[in-house]
Amino acid sequence: MDGATPIETDAVIIGAGPVGLFAVFELGLLDIKAHVIDILDRAGGQCAELYPEKPIYDIPALPIVTGQGLTDRLMEQIKPFGAEFHFSERVDALRRVDGGFELETDGGLIFRAKVVVIAAGGGSFTPKRPPLAGIETYEGKSVFYAVKRMDEFRGRDLVIVGGGDSALDWTLNLQPIANSTTLIHRRDDFRAAPDSVNKMRELVAQGGLRLQIGQVMQLKGADGVLESLSVRGDTETFDLPCNCLLPFFGLTMKLGPIADWGLNLHENLIPVDTEKFESSEKGIFAIGDINSYPGKLKLILSGFHEAALMAQQAYHIIYPGKRLLFQYTTSSSSLQKKLGVI
Ligand SMILES: Cc1cc2nc3c(=O)[nH]c(=O)nc-3n(C[C@H](O)[C@H](O)[C@H](O)COP(=O)(O)OP(=O)(O)OC[C@H]3O[C@@H](n4cnc5c(N)ncnc54)[C@H](O)[C@@H]3O)c2cc1C
Repeated sequence: MDGATPIETDAVIIGAGPVGLFAVFELGLLDIKAHVIDILDRAGGQCAELYPEKPIYDIPALPIVTGQGLTDRLMEQIKPFGAEFHFSERVDALRRVDGGFELETDGGLIFRAKVVVIAAGGGSFTPKRPPLAGIETYEGKSVFYAVKRMDEFRGRDLVIVGGGDSALDWTLNLQPIANSTTLIHRRDDFRAAPDSVNKMRELVAQGGLRLQIGQVMQLKGADGVLESLSVRGDTETFDLPCNCLLPFFGLTMKLGPIADWGLNLHENLIPVDTEKFESSEKGIFAIGDINSYPGKLKLILSGFHEAALMAQQAYHIIYPGKRLLFQYTTSSSSLQKKLGVI
């Protein structure tokens, strides 16, 4: 996509955690089209990133569901509304323009929206930088912590480091287009999904992938261009030629750019009213873990309620002067049409 062409939409939702996902549903019922942006490469926020296999017991009507299970169900529930997702993109700038807001991501995407819904949880997930001297000078040219466009890695000699889902998923996805691929992990035991681990081992057996148990000790190159890595294996330290390194060392949550958007903040949270869940800026809403108000509970179910009330107010901004009729999904044929069930 051409980053310079603004994407026009009713609403932009910042964050594809459970609350951002449910906001797509509540906005969709009111004919509000949403684009969803997340710095992660998949939906689910904390549920998918921090506890995909842990059971949650307090989602109404789901006596037990895992973090990933809840994410999958939400994705299914919001499917009728055709929200567009932009993963591996961090919203860096948010400013008011004529008729609404303009948002810009670190990948150069620009959005124009009438309302903005900040569902950013504890802030953006930020990759942990490996403790390697001078690594920052290679970032963006030879060292990457996320894959925004797979084509950037075509024909390159890749080294991917890590043992979790991101490391294994990208090893499997990039191996077919790379010139060579090496996966380095400090032990021969992987946290990633067993299916991905099996596929990785098959590729190694077929000779399409090198698996190295060990640790990267040093980067070698000049002017941000990587030429090789010094790798400590089981028995020796050796030089591994490579021109692209993808370390997946986990993520931490940081408030990130939200602090620079001119919103009132209180202890890194966005204070809102409890009628509309609007921030200090009209048209900018904050729902889920990122907001604060008296009595706030950082629970998924609270975020779902906040999304429903936020959508009512967003409707009045997007359709000024139009009456909003309160309707039940059980009995409204117009809502059922939107849901695609009749
Ligand atoms: C171990 C654990 C167990 C939990 N168990 C429960 C439980 O049993 N029940 C319960 O109700 N809650 C539980 N929680 C809390 C629950 O996960 C959170 O309340 C919920 O995830 C909040 O959802 P959210 O959508 O507001 O934010 P998040 O899930 O944090 O998602 C926010 C998303 O916004 C993205 N983002 C932030 N800033 C930007 C930006 N500038 N640009 C692009 N993307 C951005 C982030 O990358 C993230 O993906 C648990 C939490 C943890 C850590």
